[in-house]
Amino acid sequence: MPRPISAVIDLAAMHRNLALARQHARGRFLWAVVKANAYGHGLRRALRAFSEADGVALLDLDEATIARDAGWRKPILLLEGFFESRDLDVVSALNLTPVVYDSSQIEMIEQSRLSAQLDVHFKLNTGMNRLGFSARSAASAYQRLKVSGRVAQLTLMTHFANADRAHGASGAAEVAEQIEALDRIVGDWPEPRSLANSAALFLRPEVAGDSVRPGIALYGGATDESHSAASLGVAPTMTLKSRLIGTQALDVAQSVGYGSRFAASRAMRIGVIACGYADGYPRNAPDGTPVLVDGVRVPIAGRVSMDMITVDLSAAPLAGVGSNVELWGPNIPIDEVANLCGTVGYELMCALAPRVPVIETN
Ligand SMILES: *Cc1c(COP(=O)(O)O)cnc(C)c1O
Repeated sequence: MPRPISAVIDLAAMHRNLALARQHARGRFLWAVVKANAYGHGLRRALRAFSEADGVALLDLDEATIARDAGWRKPILLLEGFFESRDLDVVSALNLTPVVYDSSQIEMIEQSRLSAQLDVHFKLNTGMNRLGFSARSAASAYQRLKVSGRVAQLTLMTHFANADRAHGASGAAEVAEQIEALDRIVGDWPEPRSLANSAALFLRPEVAGDSVRPGIALYGGATDESHSAASLGVAPTMTLKSRLIGTQALDVAQSVGYGSRFAASRAMRIGVIACGYADGYPRNAPDGTPVLVDGVRVPIAGRVSMDMITVDLSAAPLAGVGSNVELWGPNIPIDEVANLCGTVGYELMCALAPRVPVIETN
């Protein structure tokens, strides 16, 4: 028998989340973001679940090749564009839509001998200060692309730094400021605009644009700590589950695991779960992080090790070897675990280890 851990990927939930994103998009072109192996869910699987999206957005030429080989005929947005001239041959052959954010890419486009014109997303830096042309460099870059003769459809794109902040907090102003910055840079350029990530799409109906780029919401994750996935109406799509493979009886003051971090304040039973940080569970999970054992929430007790997690079974007296465990999923929100570990659900999904067998449900 294989080790009793698995990740269950719920394709029907992904499909439903996409349908909800569609409602919020109100007719705008919807790119389903499937970078990072579809946030850990598996790229091919996501292409099936999101078959009704208008396009998919990802990073690598390799991923784009997989998507085309899997039969994805609709547009593919390359969120980090291309990196070398020869990438352009693949971009052209696979009919990909690269993001252009640096003048070196424009040079490559100018010098290329592409047989067909490209669609590009022209990325403006409006305050994220990561990728994109600034107010100073945008106009000349835009002109160069226009006169290169190599561009078919150009789309103006920017990315929000704070779309997930609560309304009324400074984030609200910052989204508005980024939109104002965009308006100042692009003036009356007539091209369509691509603005919203999940947070802007679900939380800020005032953010307009012609296309949207949700990622995390499609995977049933929260965009930030102040909005639960449930409050956004999205359903969890990944369940990390396992079983108890051992139990221990602790006397008062006995400790558990590496570093003896947890010491029993009374006699108690400890359950040992077949899951550890080598499966993608965060090693820094503190004592008290919830785990579902036989339908009961019990707290982690002791440091997460490579292949095992230990929990206090006081609340689940009937649990024993073979008991079902949910590390995250419908009953233990992935964001709850992530927040206790000082991170976000995105990171836990993406970090699901390749060694964990995946089961699909529909
Ligand atoms: C990852 C990414 C998105 C999706 O963001 P979510 O917060 O997951 O919705 C959208 N746009 C760009 C440019 C991205 O890199």
